[in-house]
Amino acid sequence: MAYRYYSSQTLPEVPATVTLSGDEAHHLIHVMRVKAGQGIVLFDGSGAEFDGLISAVRKKEMDVELSTRREVSRENERRLTLAVALPKGDRQKWLVEKITELGVTEFLPLDAEFSVAKAGAAAAERLGRVVIEASKQCGRNTLLRIAEPISTQKLWTMPAEGTLRLLSHPGGVSLGEALSQNAEAPVLAAVGPEGGFSEKECALALANGWQAVSLGRRILRTETAAIAIAAMLSSWPGNLPNVGR
Ligand code: SAM
Repeated sequence: MAYRYYSSQTLPEVPATVTLSGDEAHHLIHVMRVKAGQGIVLFDGSGAEFDGLISAVRKKEMDVELSTRREVSRENERRLTLAVALPKGDRQKWLVEKITELGVTEFLPLDAEFSVAKAGAAAAERLGRVVIEASKQCGRNTLLRIAEPISTQKLWTMPAEGTLRLLSHPGGVSLGEALSQNAEAPVLAAVGPEGGFSEKECALALANGWQAVSLGRRILRTETAAIAIAAMLSSWPGNLPNVGR
């Protein structure tokens, strides 16, 4: 399989020759040891992928002749926005890697009453790199968007007409049941921190029309709960025929 390369610059109309440089090019040249004549797939996050042929490799950059541009969507039919109270340390990276693979459209770091980790600019940059790496690996041509952090109060009252708003909280109706009630609406789901949502937060969410959903009989870690929701939507009817390269 050809290497996939992410270009942070919008790629031009084909046919064209582009010069790739920077960390990703360095990795391909010095770690993967690519050679002139090898095929490569490029994407720029706009939803398309480009077939290219490496025409020259130098110490710090390489030239690629782009021949074909294809719109290839590997996005889920049903849009999922996940608002999640950030877990600590490496669990953040793991969470973002997995929800990228599972096709989540947008990620909102959620600032909840019992949150233990804050999403600063450094975290956003680090997680942005995780999104790119995961997208290269899983074949996504549209990047998971990492939004600005949002407080629970703002999230509960945010206008979201036509969106199914689900509060992941032990004791609600089952997630599958809630999703089936409206099998096509885009979903906005909130997952709390390790200490859970406070009673006040839950009450306010419900008062604003959110629906509590349960993910089963066990208490899941924050990142497991987020991934369980993403996994359910990733295999939702309508997605499966799109699998493949
Ligand atoms: N002691 C906390 C409580 O009772 O809410 C546990 C919090 S849990 C470690 C972290 C978050 O994951 C929760 O706030 C909730 O959003 C989600 N979660 C975990 N297990 C869940 C389940 N079985 N059903 C629904 N949501 C769950």
